[in-house]
Amino acid sequence: MKDYMYKHPKSILNKGTGFLSGYSHTLNPYTGCSFGCTYCYVRQMPVSLFHEGEWGEWVDIKNGAATLLKKELKRAKSKGRVTIFMSSSTDPYQPIEYKEKITRSLLEVMVEESPDFLFVQTRSPLVRRDIDLLQQLKEKVRVSMTIETDQESIRKHFTPEAPPIKARLKTLQLLGEAGIPIQATIAPVLPSSEEFPHQLRSIVDRVCIDDFFMGDGSGGKRTSRLGIKTKYETLNLEEWYSPSAYRKIYERFIQVFSEDQVLISKHGFEP
Ligand code: SF4
Repeated sequence: MKDYMYKHPKSILNKGTGFLSGYSHTLNPYTGCSFGCTYCYVRQMPVSLFHEGEWGEWVDIKNGAATLLKKELKRAKSKGRVTIFMSSSTDPYQPIEYKEKITRSLLEVMVEESPDFLFVQTRSPLVRRDIDLLQQLKEKVRVSMTIETDQESIRKHFTPEAPPIKARLKTLQLLGEAGIPIQATIAPVLPSSEEFPHQLRSIVDRVCIDDFFMGDGSGGKRTSRLGIKTKYETLNLEEWYSPSAYRKIYERFIQVFSEDQVLISKHGFEP
């Protein structure tokens, strides 16, 4: 049983910093994330450390988010270019979104008062519900679907509460067919098969590869504190837990995609 609470935040847009400094703002419809991925680096951040309960077990729902965004977006746009990353420390399409529709309400605001660019990062098939709104943002949006591996057994080992890989692939396909700019994001790189690039080839023409060492904002230290290495040891797949493991994936992908279609780490998330 997850612990859900309604909150009334005073503001909704945050400044893009660190790994996301290319963005003017980040936008999180929720605080906390019920997918609770074992490797989630947010576990090591103040938002999790200073909150009661285990990461993954609680979610704070931001009531009034759309009203706040409307006001803040208008103000931000009057000051210059607005590029938004949704979301940096939660999944905007985690299960509670089926009922609460906070993310959908934020998209409705952004359709009316569109930012210069919106990057939507999720691992949830629920994003397909909002195709109608995403289409209206035209080339000002990109939906990035996390697909760290093509192996369902590996997915279950590292992220047992996240949606199945097959459903994510299908969702990417539907988004692409609807004309929405998309990418598959292999982040963090988990062990996968040689078939992986071939599976993605017919669905996307843009792939981003990132790992624990480049992408957790601390050179891999946060991930290391989470004890993720032991999860690889349990599977006898330690060779995949190394700063150079992503190269193996990269080499496989550029056999199937062109080099300019395979972006590494930060380059794949830029506005
Ligand atoms: S979906 Fe993203 S934010 Fe949520 S637990 Fe997993 S890695 Fe963390």
